[in-house]
Amino acid sequence: MPESLRPRALRLLRLLGRPGFHLFLTGLLMVLGFVLAHRLSERSGREQLSALSTERLELYASNLAAELGRHASLPSLLAIAPTLQALMQAPDDPERRRAASHMLARVNVRAGTHQIFFATPQGQVLSASEPLAPPARLPEALAQGRSHFFAADPNTGSTDFYLLHPMRQASQAAGVIVVRFNLAPLEATWLDLGLRSQGERILVADDQDVVIMSSVQALKYAVLDHADPSRRQALQASARYPQAIGPDLDLPASLEVHQGLQVKLPLPGAKTMLAQQRQIVPLGLRLVALSDLTEVRQRAQLAAWGGAAFGASVGLLVLHLSSRRRALRQLTQAQADLRQAHAQLEQLVDSRTAELRQTNDALKTQIAQRLQTEGELLQASKLAVLGQMSAGLSHEVNQPLTALRALARNSMRLLEAGRQDAVAANLQIMDDMVERMSQITRQLKSFARKADEQVTSAVSLLDCVRNALLLLEHRSRALGLATEIDLPPGLRVRAEANRLEQVLVNLFGNAIDAMQHEAERRLRVRAVAQDAGQRVLVQVQDCGPGVGEADLARLFEPFFTTKPAGEGLGLGLVISAKIVHEFGGTLRAEKLAQGMSFEFDLAVESWTAVPETHDV
Ligand code: ADP
Repeated sequence: MPESLRPRALRLLRLLGRPGFHLFLTGLLMVLGFVLAHRLSERSGREQLSALSTERLELYASNLAAELGRHASLPSLLAIAPTLQALMQAPDDPERRRAASHMLARVNVRAGTHQIFFATPQGQVLSASEPLAPPARLPEALAQGRSHFFAADPNTGSTDFYLLHPMRQASQAAGVIVVRFNLAPLEATWLDLGLRSQGERILVADDQDVVIMSSVQALKYAVLDHADPSRRQALQASARYPQAIGPDLDLPASLEVHQGLQVKLPLPGAKTMLAQQRQIVPLGLRLVALSDLTEVRQRAQLAAWGGAAFGASVGLLVLHLSSRRRALRQLTQAQADLRQAHAQLEQLVDSRTAELRQTNDALKTQIAQRLQTEGELLQASKLAVLGQMSAGLSHEVNQPLTALRALARNSMRLLEAGRQDAVAANLQIMDDMVERMSQITRQLKSFARKADEQVTSAVSLLDCVRNALLLLEHRSRALGLATEIDLPPGLRVRAEANRLEQVLVNLFGNAIDAMQHEAERRLRVRAVAQDAGQRVLVQVQDCGPGVGEADLARLFEPFFTTKPAGEGLGLGLVISAKIVHEFGGTLRAEKLAQGMSFEFDLAVESWTAVPETHDV
């Protein structure tokens, strides 16, 4: 396709694909179907009607010709009758006239004709089968030498047919035999037919184009074409018709040429009809058939609607097929889009799964590293606590050792002096000192055990607090620390004693550190029941300077410390929080009006006594 035509072709294709165009096409097909079906049906109906009418015309024509020809030979047969020959010899003989009349009457009855008479060449009746007056046209017909003519019967108003046969004597016209028969019975059958078939009218017009026989009484003596007043007057004066000349039917002269022409009679309520004609030349008659076109038109109307319906169906079918094609195309497109989206989604899921797997692996690695770091931190914290404890231990142990040495030396001297009582008192003091030292060692032993391997059990909270305070006693005593322990002695919590003590040592140590420069140094330990006694909240409160708002949020950050280098690691609270968490609780810090409060919750195993205050 040339480049310049391509946009036009595309526009045309787009137009063809539009639903509006299909509706327009449907309308167009409907109109075309209507017009075409109407034309075809009307034409074929007219042709059928014309063929039928032609057949009928033939039938009527042969019927009429047969009826008129039935008595054609009768006058010539009568011409040789001796009675008439004799009358011709003596026309004025009354006897011969009577005999002839008698014979003619007999023949008339037998032949079934209306009247037979014998007349002079001028038309004067000499003898007749019936005493009927001869038609007024007779002299004119005789003068014209006619062999037949039609004339109206003024008595019946019907048309009579007259057959004429001239009789000669010595080559001279001597008379004429006239056979008259009436066409009323034939016309009656036509009238009957006309009544029965409303759609068809038959007219027989004579050589003057005046209807002399008709299947419709109203059209009788009408003029087939158009009669101007002078012609009308002449017709009226001819005395050929028993009544006044009827209306003009204005049938076109071209009816002669065209078979089957549509006409509309100039009569009130007349319909359009198909007019056809057949000449009966020997009789000088015209047979005209008028067929009603109403039925043809109705059928054409019906066919037109049928055609319109067919056109609409074709249009709708095209519309349906095209919309189906469009829907299929859209469906295929949608399926392709869906497949593509599905493939993209699968790809995305695959890539996301791979990413997730990677992230998962990275997380696992991080968790492993974290666990390792936590283990290391725990270990570091333990070492820090051990460092603190060893400092306390050396302080605690050195004093008693020095005292023990002094007491031992003193005891040896007392033994030498024989003062056994004083030695016994010294030994008692030494025993107490050793007992104290062994207590500290027990604590150290319990710390040295690997906490990870231990499981929780019912632990006396008061005992743990006491043990922790004991571990810090050297410092608390040095600072003159006042302690308020507000714990029920029978309260047992679910924990692991060593680690709980580790937490408490941490909290107590921090409190002591915070209060070392304060004038008043008071440590409060309280237990508050929670969840209807199911849990307990342990509070460790001091009256130190506390921490600033900014630092409060960072207390549980690893390595956060405000203590001078070498004194604080910033791990104590982190590890304590973790241990509490392992016991199923949470460690929190809260700022008091004066000092800090660290509190954590634990599951209660049993309460046995009402809380009371203990001074240690
Ligand atoms: P460290 O004691 O080694 O510094 P911790 O984790 O135990 O590590 O404590 C972190 C910090 O929290 C301390 O350096 C201190 O500033 C602050 N802190 C802890 N307890 C108290 C308290 N009772 N009063 C004031 N500050 C405290």
